[in-house]
Amino acid sequence: MKPLVAIVGRPNVGKSTLFNRLIGRRLALVEDQPGVTRDRHYADAVWGGRSFTFIDTGGFVPGEKDSLLQQVREQAQLAVEECDVIVFVVDGRDGVTPADVAVASYLRKSGKPVIVAANKLDNTTGTMQALAADFYKLGLGEVHALSAEHNLGVNGLFDEVVEKLPPKEEGEDDTAPPDDGIIRVAIIGRPNVGKSTLVNAILKEKRVVASDVPGTTRDPIDSPLEYKGKKLLLTDTAGIRRKKTIAHQVEKYSVIAALKVMERSDVAVLLMDATEPAVDQDAKLAGLAEERGRALVIVVNKWDLVDQDQRRQEAYRESLKHALKFVGYAPILFTSALTGSKVEKVVDVAVELAEQFRFRAPTPQLNRLLEHMVDNHPAPIARGKPLRLYYITQVAAAPPTFALTCNYPEGVPDMYKRYITNQLRKTFDLRVPIRLVFKERP
Ligand code: GDP
Ligand code: GDP
Repeated sequence: MKPLVAIVGRPNVGKSTLFNRLIGRRLALVEDQPGVTRDRHYADAVWGGRSFTFIDTGGFVPGEKDSLLQQVREQAQLAVEECDVIVFVVDGRDGVTPADVAVASYLRKSGKPVIVAANKLDNTTGTMQALAADFYKLGLGEVHALSAEHNLGVNGLFDEVVEKLPPKEEGEDDTAPPDDGIIRVAIIGRPNVGKSTLVNAILKEKRVVASDVPGTTRDPIDSPLEYKGKKLLLTDTAGIRRKKTIAHQVEKYSVIAALKVMERSDVAVLLMDATEPAVDQDAKLAGLAEERGRALVIVVNKWDLVDQDQRRQEAYRESLKHALKFVGYAPILFTSALTGSKVEKVVDVAVELAEQFRFRAPTPQLNRLLEHMVDNHPAPIARGKPLRLYYITQVAAAPPTFALTCNYPEGVPDMYKRYITNQLRKTFDLRVPIRLVFKERP
């Protein structure tokens, strides 16, 4: 699992601005996917030979109900419990505020490495440096002057983060889950949608305790099983050990649990509750699977509580497809974990998707397809130049990633990318995320 780096700080200090800078850098390395939800609070980074994930903990805090201080405290708590390094963002021009002091004392007690990022220091004159120095009073060690808006000091911040990361674990840089013949399936979803019940139903034995109390202290549980001659490992993200869980915090823990477990999974099974319409959190989890490039099965559970009507099911499917457009390739199933209805189907589909996830296309067939695509639907003119696509190869599996050589990589419109993606899906029957990389002909 990649180390997690948390960004904390009170509102308006520039966390989102900093975060967008970090995403900007990530996108320089990894091709962005059209249509993915914009509302993202985590970003992968590769720097100094390490890969790690930034989390904007501010993005998880609902806000309105709580006082400012309480909000920031909760973020800090989340950061301390879940993350390896904490970037504490403060407003360099405001100087030290009482909220900063409160959070600092909490962070100090945690013993986790903290970097104080004094933001909004837009030029490097002596006065700005003096402003930054004020924050040494917080007693957290290194203070780093920064201007997220003007992109000053961001590289230096990366360097410091890398320096404070825990030692590298073997295989840490692998962006794909291990290819050892075991199909790893992450069961994700909001609290109480029936994850543990589903795992139970699959295992057909009561090894996992289902509970009515959302977010009670249960650990993510790995269940190995053999199914139709295949080895599977199911991971139930239902529980992360929490001592004092505040009710509304449970939701964001399900996001972080999903993030952690998905990293090493081939397939994510996203459970939803049929009696509640798709909510933001469901979309967030689906977006997470798409961003991580993991195969996804959407499971509408508790279908026993809904009228068992075929038309109703189709209507539900359509509205879900609309709400989760950006994962339109993901199969949707309707289950009752409680009665066991369609539970086996979930496993069948997961196994099928795991195979597609590791699919490799023969290069000659790919290039015939490319010819066919360009003939049927010529590439558009991009900034005055006709776009030319020369050849295509598959450069990676898990998820399938294709490189296209062309005359003008930056000029490929999103619509044309979607066209290519859809053709690849159709031709090879891929209901998993697909990545495209455009390269200039050398
Ligand atoms: P968040 O609430 O902590 O996520 O803060 P935002 O990223 O939304 O930023 C709050 C305001 O501060 C916005 O108006 C930003 O444009 C501004 N801001 C962020 N970073 C800087 C910076 O480095 N310099 C200056 N002058 N303004 C900044
Ligand atoms: P988790 O928090 O996602 O792991 O959810 P649990 O598996 O603990 O289930 C929460 C509650 O929903 C329990 O009371 C389950 O018995 C109930 N439940 C789970 N699946 C179903 C289902 O398919 N139908 C019905 N009616 N109840 C279910």
